[in-house]
Amino acid sequence: MDGKQLKALSVLGYNFWLHLFRSVLPRKKENQAEKFKGYFRSDWITSFRPEEIPQVYNFENCTVCGLCQPACLPMIASQGRFLGPEHLAACAGRSQPEYVSDLDDFLRCTLCGRCEPACPDEVKISELALLMRKWIFRVDPAMTWSLFPEARKNLDQFGNPFGKEQELSARPSGKNGRVLFPGCREMALGEPGKWVKLADKFGMEAELLSGACCGGFFEEIGAEGVNPGLEKILARNPQEVITVCPHCYYRLSKKLPPTVKVRFLLELIPEKAAAKANGGKRVMFHDPCFLGRKMGMLAQPRNLIQQLGFELMEFKESKDLSECCGGGGGLFWHDPEMASRVSALRVAEAQKAGVSLILTECGLCRELMQKAGSGAKIEVKRISDFFV
Ligand code: SF4
Ligand code: SF4
Repeated sequence: MDGKQLKALSVLGYNFWLHLFRSVLPRKKENQAEKFKGYFRSDWITSFRPEEIPQVYNFENCTVCGLCQPACLPMIASQGRFLGPEHLAACAGRSQPEYVSDLDDFLRCTLCGRCEPACPDEVKISELALLMRKWIFRVDPAMTWSLFPEARKNLDQFGNPFGKEQELSARPSGKNGRVLFPGCREMALGEPGKWVKLADKFGMEAELLSGACCGGFFEEIGAEGVNPGLEKILARNPQEVITVCPHCYYRLSKKLPPTVKVRFLLELIPEKAAAKANGGKRVMFHDPCFLGRKMGMLAQPRNLIQQLGFELMEFKESKDLSECCGGGGGLFWHDPEMASRVSALRVAEAQKAGVSLILTECGLCRELMQKAGSGAKIEVKRISDFFV
């Protein structure tokens, strides 16, 4: 008997004893007919909005060609836990009640959208994954919250998913219809004082808005409509909102009325402000998915890096094809281990290129890659750190 046969025999034996053991355990009786009918409750069937219907049927364009698969870094790093974009297109093609059983698959997509340019049939996988998460949240919010207990607890206690905001000793000066919105993640886990300093240093004359969450991180896990911050922003009647987190930048650009201009702080830093003090040190720039691919900000970070006197090297996949840091779509909550394996791939590439400093401009990308890079002695910083 060879190894393969031995393995097959042991799996068979394992399954035999498992089924025997289960058959003697007392089980809760379920009314299968009622359960089945429950799947087809009218509020489940009608929970897509009319404008979403074409988006749902986008999965029909998938010809299962597999061209998108190599573009999906999370799939590659998942050790078989996530079967990738082609599989998500198949999940979206099931009947609605079955979406619930696919929640884990939908949540493993980082919503990076990197597979989309690779698809000849224009299947929008990240939009499908997000839509299915929203559908599940609409029909059974408790199911989504059960997978994100910390975010739920923080929402109840602090009005945001990340927890208590840090105290600030100074606030920026200004009141000209401009609002500085660091966002809840930066206020709780980042460096809020840095943003205040930068706003003042570059004369942005913006009022600080804290104690508010744009809801972007909630929406990424499907919890739409949870945005304890949009009204607070609108109540200030701003003409311009300055953001520092790519997730807020994307979300507010979509959610605020077009009369409110949403800016990213980096674009307000004049290139001439950079002191060429870095002696041609080689760095790599990681494009955050929400800043580069989704908001199209590709040139400004690179210009600033060059103005700072660094020698910029590109990752082999960069700009609008940049790979994800592993944190998008709430994967850092849902499966932190898988998220850190994705970041480790990014860091390994920098290490292989002989670079010891990675620059980016997203707090979440920085945190994940810094954790992954600590063993490899790779430092990860934000470009804005060099202007404080
Ligand atoms: S959007 Fe990103 S994570 Fe999701 S399937 Fe596509 S490449 Fe993979
Ligand atoms: S590339 Fe597009 S058509 Fe091909 S498997 Fe992926 S989603 Fe389907």
